[in-house]
Amino acid sequence: MEKKILVTKTSLPDYEIFIEKIKPLWESRWITNMGTYHQELEKKLMKFMDVSNISLMVNGHMALELAIQAMNFPDNSEVITTPFTFISTTHAIIRNHLKPVFCDIKLEDYTIDEEKIESLITEKTVAIIPVHVYGNICNIERIQQIAKKHNLKVIYDAAHAFGESYKGISVGKFGNASIFSFHATKVFNTIEGGAVTCENVELYEKLYNLKNFGIRGEEQIVGVGSNAKMNEFSAIMGLCNLEQLKGNIEARKRVTEYYKKELYDMKELIIPQFDDKNTSYNYAYFPVLFEREQVRNQVYKKLKDKNIFARKYFYPLTSDADCFNGKYKDFNLKNAHKAASTILVLPLYPELELDDVKRICKTIRESVQNS
Ligand SMILES: *Cc1c(COP(=O)(O)O)cnc(C)c1O
Repeated sequence: MEKKILVTKTSLPDYEIFIEKIKPLWESRWITNMGTYHQELEKKLMKFMDVSNISLMVNGHMALELAIQAMNFPDNSEVITTPFTFISTTHAIIRNHLKPVFCDIKLEDYTIDEEKIESLITEKTVAIIPVHVYGNICNIERIQQIAKKHNLKVIYDAAHAFGESYKGISVGKFGNASIFSFHATKVFNTIEGGAVTCENVELYEKLYNLKNFGIRGEEQIVGVGSNAKMNEFSAIMGLCNLEQLKGNIEARKRVTEYYKKELYDMKELIIPQFDDKNTSYNYAYFPVLFEREQVRNQVYKKLKDKNIFARKYFYPLTSDADCFNGKYKDFNLKNAHKAASTILVLPLYPELELDDVKRICKTIRESVQNS
């Protein structure tokens, strides 16, 4: 059997470096509760992301759930979002007792179709939660305009966009808040982890209470909160991985360029261009769109037969998840359905060898020709 290639491979620091870095924890026995390393990582990330506030969380999902909760929306309010995302985005809205209102996406970059947002706004709408899918930055200017006009909050699901900027502005600065995931499968990981960035310090303070039971002192509980703080082992993993981030993104870019070179002339395929001059990409994913679902499925299977595990990411749409029993089937989501049924995310990670990329592309080409 040929070498197994998964869609991603977790970035880890050198073993010795990590072990050396965690040694002080045995001395201090302070392994969580906003310790030294939690604070150090917050400071480093604030600088790296050029944001005024960052709150480190136990994972990206809780970052999103608590960012929404911190806005204190009335129950059953409506939130405009997209279904072409990881299920976390939709679940975070529903778990906050809010109603997701699904907006279609654009097939050029899979982000929310900003021109369709206004027709979905009602008197119950309180927020927009767009997703920078695959690290493609949403039309933040237009979304801001709409939000301002209708007095809505904007929370970006920026789980895919860590390390990026748009027109020289860090991705963490847009909207009322942005959330990031530092899960093992993401561009930058803290094993499990996540963060909320926001320019408003009051929001940061609210998030602090929400992530640590509202505890502000030994005898001081100022609010009802959850437990979602990042622990010290994770923070140290983050500090180590941050050192490697630049090199990792460069390596991802090399793999991406190679994919583009190998696949550019395939007619049945639309490949991502990464050519928006305003965006500095992190090259997190390489999603290809096929003309037909049947071809996508065939390529997926053929790759699998060769021990190459691409992902139908995102399929199904979150609005079509079994748990919703067809509740959201009346939304007009033509492009989102098209993308979900024809997309395939190819393996991409810093250490992916160019020979393997070649093998992946050859398999795709053969499979498409036989379709
Ligand atoms: C990964 C991801 C999340 C959730 O992050 P976790 O760290 O896994 O909890 C949310 N939204 C999107 C788009 C993601 O890809």
